[in-house]
Amino acid sequence: MAFLKKLFALLFSKSSVTKSIDEVVAEKIETEKLETSLHDLRETPTPGATGKIRLGIIVGHTKAAPGAKMSSPLNISEYDYNTDVATLMADECARTSLIDSIIIYRDNIGIAGAYRKAEEYGCDAVIELHFNAYNRLVTGTETLCTANPQDSLFAEHCHAAMCKVFERGGNSRGVKKIARKENGGVNVHSFPSGVNCLVEPAFADNLGEANMLVELKERYASALVVAVIDWGFSVGLLRGRAS
Ligand SMILES: [Zn+2]
Repeated sequence: MAFLKKLFALLFSKSSVTKSIDEVVAEKIETEKLETSLHDLRETPTPGATGKIRLGIIVGHTKAAPGAKMSSPLNISEYDYNTDVATLMADECARTSLIDSIIIYRDNIGIAGAYRKAEEYGCDAVIELHFNAYNRLVTGTETLCTANPQDSLFAEHCHAAMCKVFERGGNSRGVKKIARKENGGVNVHSFPSGVNCLVEPAFADNLGEANMLVELKERYASALVVAVIDWGFSVGLLRGRAS
């Protein structure tokens, strides 16, 4: 419990967004070392721990049907924006050496095909990237996942990171545990072999929200990568990295 508390303190600390990924990782490893030194005599290694996370990054929608568009004059589609975010995330993953990432597009293979690809790649975790649109007035961040506790834990990590980057001042619209028949349900229920969530960082048909997504694109991508690392330490997937 103390270990989890430490991780959450790090995750929710005011300065975590402004820290580089390297700094955050160094802190995690220190925390992990401390915990390991306290418990190494009675803890058994996590089965399957590889010291590395395999992350699938699914770009929502397709080139032919690119999803919602940001407010004019930006007019950037979900597909185009999230192609950039996915690329930035993959670059960050490569830099940390803690995550092997794969960018997966739904073009020609659909939602089921995309998640099948994630499974074939052996992904531990998958994030599907979107943004919201409604009536140009609504604002906020929401994260969709199944009611599975492992999925929810992963979603909470991603959601908290987004709320911090976009300065939502709290939990914003929250993590939504949805049924398969709900909007986005097919997506989040398509990856039983690992954890996954679908992120809706903002309502980009609102110009203020769209500007925020564009201005904070790099920080947003980094924050999701840090969230995945955070999650990896919390579930023991990166345990090998501290020894
Ligand atoms: Zn979408």
